[in-house]
Amino acid sequence: MIGAGVIGVTTAWYLRQQGVNVAVVEQRAGVAQEASFGNAGVIAPGYVTPWAAPGMPRKVLSYLFAAEAPVLFRPSLNPALWRWVLRWLGECRLERYRENKSRMQRVAFYSRDQLHRLRDQLSIQYEQSQGYLQLLRAQRDVEMTAPARDLLDAAAVPYRMLEPAECHELEPGLSQSAPLAGGILLPEDEAGNCPLFAQALRRAAEDAGVRFRFNTPVDALVVEGGRATGIMARGHRYEADAVVMAAAVGSVPLLSACGIRIPLYPVKGYSATVMLDPLAIGPRRALMDEAYKTAITPFANRIRIAGTAELGSPRLTLRDAALRTLMRVASDWFPGAGRYSDAQFWVGARPMLPDGAPLLGPTPVDGLFLNLGHGSTGWAMACGSGRVVADVVVGRTPEIPLDGLTLERYR
Ligand SMILES: Cc1cc2nc3c(=O)[nH]c(=O)nc-3n(C[C@H](O)[C@H](O)[C@H](O)COP(=O)(O)OP(=O)(O)OC[C@H]3O[C@@H](n4cnc5c(N)ncnc54)[C@H](O)[C@@H]3O)c2cc1C
Repeated sequence: MIGAGVIGVTTAWYLRQQGVNVAVVEQRAGVAQEASFGNAGVIAPGYVTPWAAPGMPRKVLSYLFAAEAPVLFRPSLNPALWRWVLRWLGECRLERYRENKSRMQRVAFYSRDQLHRLRDQLSIQYEQSQGYLQLLRAQRDVEMTAPARDLLDAAAVPYRMLEPAECHELEPGLSQSAPLAGGILLPEDEAGNCPLFAQALRRAAEDAGVRFRFNTPVDALVVEGGRATGIMARGHRYEADAVVMAAAVGSVPLLSACGIRIPLYPVKGYSATVMLDPLAIGPRRALMDEAYKTAITPFANRIRIAGTAELGSPRLTLRDAALRTLMRVASDWFPGAGRYSDAQFWVGARPMLPDGAPLLGPTPVDGLFLNLGHGSTGWAMACGSGRVVADVVVGRTPEIPLDGLTLERYR
């Protein structure tokens, strides 16, 4: 296994459950240190959706010169970026959106079942909370939820439209003065601390015999006679019967060196973590401010505020305007709930494919498998993806169909 983000850790766990001898090679000093570290923690299969959606290109264009935009495109001369954007534009058509969304939801619903099973089996606690509430600031935002509600109906996902007073009843900490026209409650969706989960699963996986080799950046895959036979890391060769690539953004150069090109591109996002004032009433469940596409999630005695999708920014540096937006959203809804001036900021890269669904399973190289490209919903898809890929590696038929989820879709 290459990569010990939430995707690598879950895959390693399920492989071990199938009796495979597993070693996970990771460049960082522990699990879930990159994209999996500071995410919003939302597990909302009902709302899993591709970034490529009708209306998105216009939205991105309209934000092109705005500093505090929830989605930002920073054009550059990088050809990989433009190839990605062209593909992404093609995927914004309604019929492509519907298809991509249903592929993602297939993985996400399966994943939630697997997560619950694992949670029961191992008694893992990861600061989980139940329910997901979308906050709609203006009447126009309420009206604009009609297509999303149609999709929820079509997928038989339970939800409830709420009046402002009902939102306040469910979330007594919400400011009375913030503009609120209504909400959508998804009672079956949930949230939890992704790195905490990954650490707990790592311990269980180690107890079950999985070996983790940290501080070990993989330099290359070893492919001989069309078959993956190991990896090169720090000048050493490590033999393996099979290799699973779960290195998110780091997978691209390793795969491309053996002739597999995938249209994966990092989409930057930010989060802030704030200690709750013990006397304040914080959020009770994960909330989403639809206007700013910013999530506010309760984690025990903290709140996590996360959002902004930034395409084309090559470096993972914090950007003041994005952080200000996060702070503004949090203090609009929960003024005084925590010391926002002491927030811990984080920036991460969503490993995003232009059509949205992850890449799971086999490659043209025998013995080389993929589990990557989970974009903005990798935590929500981790257990399902891990289980599916482990099944494929050992030659079992996965419990969900893989059509549209493998590399075949780009060939
Ligand atoms: C702001 C933000 C908010 C988000 N909110 C949510 C959310 O609410 N819900 C949700 O489901 N998802 C969310 N996501 C997305 C989610 O965090 C990602 O999809 C998920 O973490 C991807 O997991 P991963 O294991 O593939 O990637 P990573 O966690 O990045 O793991 C990849 C690992 O591979 C390692 N690696 C890379 N290259 C090499 C190499 N050459 N050698 C060895 N190791 C290597 C890296 O060090 C890393 O540990 C959010 C993301 C962001 C940025």
